Amino acid sequence: MIAENPSISEIAARAHQSFNELYQSTPTITAVAPGRVNLIGEHVDYCDGIVLPLAISRYVVISARPNDSKIAHITGPGLDPVKFDISAPQITSDKKWANYLGGVTQGFLDLNYHIPGFDAYIESTLPLGAGLSSSTALECCFATLIEGLVDTVLPTHEKTRIALESERKHSNAPSGISDQFASAYGAEDHLILIDCQSREADLIPFNDPTLSFLIVDTCVSHDLGDELYLERFGSAFRALHLLDKPSWRDVTMDDVYQNEEKLGETLYRRAKHIVTETQRAPLAANVLTNGDFASIGKIMADSHRSLRDDFQVSCDELDLIVGLANEIGFEGGVLGARMTGSGFGGSALILCRTDQLEEIAKKINRAYEAETGIIPIIFSTRPSKGAHILS
Ligand code: ADP
Ligand code: MG
Repeated sequence: MIAENPSISEIAARAHQSFNELYQSTPTITAVAPGRVNLIGEHVDYCDGIVLPLAISRYVVISARPNDSKIAHITGPGLDPVKFDISAPQITSDKKWANYLGGVTQGFLDLNYHIPGFDAYIESTLPLGAGLSSSTALECCFATLIEGLVDTVLPTHEKTRIALESERKHSNAPSGISDQFASAYGAEDHLILIDCQSREADLIPFNDPTLSFLIVDTCVSHDLGDELYLERFGSAFRALHLLDKPSWRDVTMDDVYQNEEKLGETLYRRAKHIVTETQRAPLAANVLTNGDFASIGKIMADSHRSLRDDFQVSCDELDLIVGLANEIGFEGGVLGARMTGSGFGGSALILCRTDQLEEIAKKINRAYEAETGIIPIIFSTRPSKGAHILS
């Protein structure tokens, strides 16, 4: 029931083999970057909010070898190969995935790095478009690869900025820094509490082996996802303007209550979500630090309810998974469940007792398939290390 999580070395071995077959030589450098989930902190990173993500055990891996030219050749399973001059200003490609790489390249060129040409092969175990930030992992993996090729390590804020600018330019998502930060700087056995206003981050230990996360990919993506995402971004902007505050961090729940009429029903709900979700992230970090795992379920449930009813970005399939997990409950090994990612499909996150993972996955798989006719993809994860070069 639980899908395999190939290890980083297994994924790298696949990349090496394909590289060998394609380029008839051996890669000299391999970079890896994980996807991410938020335990708490959805749709607040673009509102100066606070978020609590973890890097997951699913990855993008890129193996490469300098080729004594100015040209980068890059491909991967099912990808039309691309070829571009890595020393020249980057132009937009008709291939979306290549644009994420072009954006990162441009970030390094703007910092006056001279990047040598190379051949490269991409492998990944992250499902695309499942709310697990495969696009971010691709950007962070490529940025890490370039760091290796030019023999530098960028300051944290530079690397996240480069990856984020590429994301913002080439997707419809006006997202904040949290995904890039989690993928680049995640740590094994830790969550990351990120203040998206000050851009400061703290590592929160999560090292109890009896607890694990299940990620359930609903395998649905509702068509209007991107448009609705942009609509929510616009609503947040309009609500803040009506509240007449410089930043969401200056808005209290009292401000929201007092301005209910002025905001109108929809913006009032959006504002409620933004303010309460940002309150929940440090609360969840505290609860984890104190080992108070019973309280985490309530925080996750409040977050899910807020996303479903106030920010209105859930969907039937996500609500179904979260409902099934809640039915299994504490006795059955579930400590908490909520949707994760920007919503309208994608994945749900369930905090579970490790020894009951299989059983929980089996129940959810069976009930979800019976109700929707869709077989979900379920895998387990623990907090993983962020982007790095493999030695
Ligand atoms: P998410 O980031 O939630 O997975 P997005 O729609 O933001 O969903 O990003 C998915 C896009 O990222 C893909 O359509 C593709 O362009 C790019 N991408 C991610 N991983 C890879 C990969 N391994 N190879 C090629 N493109 C990838
Ligand atoms: Mg993405």
